Amino acid sequence: MSVVFETFGGSPWTPMYVDTFDKNKCLGCGRCIKLCVQKVLGVETYEDDEGTERQIAKIDNKDHCIGCQSCGSICVRRCYTFKSKS
Ligand code: SF4
Ligand code: SF4
Repeated sequence: MSVVFETFGGSPWTPMYVDTFDKNKCLGCGRCIKLCVQKVLGVETYEDDEGTERQIAKIDNKDHCIGCQSCGSICVRRCYTFKSKS
């Protein structure tokens, strides 16, 4: 059974924690990183085939995720998947 909390109004709320990140889809816009109040997400820097430095997001600190799914909502590329906790 999943972990279920309550909204302020007393309705059941199941947190959906960040699970996977697809680096091949990421544009490196950084929106998800800025949005995460828990500072779960960070930046990965790499060099592309032409030697240009690029940045993409990464899951840095999964243990601090509160399961709000805000990162997934802002991401136009749908890079993240989420999972409840049992
Ligand atoms: S919002 Fe999506 S595309 Fe933008 S950095 Fe985050 S994961 Fe990458
Ligand atoms: S689900 Fe919420 S807390 Fe977890 S990484 Fe995304 S924005 Fe941060």
